[in-house]
Amino acid sequence: MTNPLLAPFTGPFALPPFARIGDEDFAPAFEAALAEARGHVAAIAADPEPPSFANTIEALELAEETLTRVGGVFWNLAGADSTAARQALERDLAPKLAAYSSEVTMNAGLFARIEALWQGRDGLGLTPEQARVLELYQRMFVRAGAALDEAGRKRMAAVKERLAVLSTAFSQNLLADERDWVMALDPADLAGLPGFVVAAARAAAEERGMDGHALTLNRSVVVPFLQFSPRRDLREKAYGAWVARGAGGGATDNRAIAAEILKLREERARLLGYESFAAFKLEPEMAKTPAHVRDLLMRVWEPARAKALADAAVLTGMMHRDGINGDLEPWDWRYYSERRRRAEHDLDEAALKPYFGLEAMIGAAFDTAHRLFALEFRPLDLPLYHPDVRAWEVTRNGRHIAVFLGDWFARASKRSGAWCSAMREQRRLGGEQRPVVVNVCNFARPAEGEPALLSWDDARTLFHEFGHALHQMLSDLTYSFISGTSVARDFVELPSQLYEHWLEVPEVLDAHARHVVTGAPMPAALRDRLIAARTYDQGFATVEYLASALVDLAFHDGPAPADPMAVQAAVLERLGMPHAIRMRHATPHFAHVFAGDGYSAGYYSYMWSEVMDADAFDAFLEAGDPFDAETAGRLERHILSAGGSQEADRLYTAFRGRMPGVEPMLRGRGLLEAARPSAV
Ligand SMILES: [Zn+2]
Repeated sequence: MTNPLLAPFTGPFALPPFARIGDEDFAPAFEAALAEARGHVAAIAADPEPPSFANTIEALELAEETLTRVGGVFWNLAGADSTAARQALERDLAPKLAAYSSEVTMNAGLFARIEALWQGRDGLGLTPEQARVLELYQRMFVRAGAALDEAGRKRMAAVKERLAVLSTAFSQNLLADERDWVMALDPADLAGLPGFVVAAARAAAEERGMDGHALTLNRSVVVPFLQFSPRRDLREKAYGAWVARGAGGGATDNRAIAAEILKLREERARLLGYESFAAFKLEPEMAKTPAHVRDLLMRVWEPARAKALADAAVLTGMMHRDGINGDLEPWDWRYYSERRRRAEHDLDEAALKPYFGLEAMIGAAFDTAHRLFALEFRPLDLPLYHPDVRAWEVTRNGRHIAVFLGDWFARASKRSGAWCSAMREQRRLGGEQRPVVVNVCNFARPAEGEPALLSWDDARTLFHEFGHALHQMLSDLTYSFISGTSVARDFVELPSQLYEHWLEVPEVLDAHARHVVTGAPMPAALRDRLIAARTYDQGFATVEYLASALVDLAFHDGPAPADPMAVQAAVLERLGMPHAIRMRHATPHFAHVFAGDGYSAGYYSYMWSEVMDADAFDAFLEAGDPFDAETAGRLERHILSAGGSQEADRLYTAFRGRMPGVEPMLRGRGLLEAARPSAV
């Protein structure tokens, strides 16, 4: 019997035949697909014909056809509907796929063909899209070490191997420190804590086999404790343990590991000919250079610090009125800030919820896409991978655009969080292929017969993931290597974060955020309170984030520091870090930077994206209409349909006429008043 994953999908919209696919089909399908891909790659490398764009790059684009199709089904199921068998297969596949991909990038014959094309690119008569694809292939191979000599390759492999060992040790030490610390809480220590914190403290004790209640260093336990406990002595103790993670001086101390990681990263960058690891890491990003990153972060630093210092003065006053003299300390901030929030901004979640029905919010996301891009959504009745999943055909003027799948409810088989993935990517090479895109979330399932209601955060998440989906669905390119969301990491959150802005447009809320029983619109006062609450305590949040981002940058921009802790201290000193705020992640527990490579010299990218989405939405406000057709047209033409067809800064500039400015983001965080001199 044929493996259903290996035959072409011939059903409606060429969707995978979910009902016929069994878990036992995946392992043999992956095996066959990997063998087929290896065969194709070997044939391309050994082709006796001189290299051409068609026989090398286009051939590579199609070499993993089956692997991509099987993976598109499997990786979606592994995240959204996992089983023990699928988890075992995931563990089994990870090293096999990693080995395959390094085999490809280290294939000397293949790289020689790509390099020959790259050197002769001006004479090839390439379209701009082809030239871009060639550039990215060449860059990918060079960055992986394909151009190194034998000794360089050997050293590169050794460096990468040692880095993997060190990263694992870093995160395991962190876990050990978080696991080992526990503080028993007497009944008197629970005073002032809301029910959910008491319950979390009870659960933490139970987990450790203790009676009563306990505090641990799990973020979801310790942060609410710091927010709500009026016991300053206990807050100080808990906070001290929390910020000491990874710096305890014993076997789990991470400081020497961090230093060695930084040294090896610098060596890796220098082997490849870059002057620093930050220069290597930022090259394919929109930011491009460490100087651009520093410039952006420093433009936000001063207004954020001014706002934080003004807030610190208010919180210090509250503490003094409590009869506690002296300075506001880091273990005091969250407690007084939470009291101030309740007094000034309290939102009654229970009053809010009936206005955010799931059906209404799906309708709001679709309606917004219709008004901006003329998309239409027609429900499909098809068998999918789980009964929760719903499907729509997306069309424009009667033309098929994509299939959109929504999988919104939490269930035990689903990984936590929310994401968007393409089960099939858009491309035109080898015949037009339109995408199949899925949004996966973890919203609470309603009781039988009740309507599903979302929180405000949930509704934002729904819009966020739908923004990623639009980036896939509106894609219009020949090569899947650059289609959809195949863009720089500091650019990929632009479409998603930008789409969240439409949820806050008053006419969208008035049209869609209607009471699930009465159908009445949300009262204007509640709506305004909801939007105002977003800027609360952003001085603190921005300062603790920026301090971490600037230290990350300092570590990787230039020679590796022998003593990272001294560099951290010097950076904070230079910045004038407010006394009552510490880095969001200090070096010994900065997992984003040291537990892997993902966000090293890249922690800045959260703010980079936010600057862009705020500035991009401002283009609509400047046009005087959040649904301005001309601006929406430019957004689709230069960003949503354009994938990675050009460097991100050029895409953005084509849309906006200039690079993004920071003012809209400062306004969004409520930091703009602080940015202007307030007193003469
Ligand atoms: Zn996202």
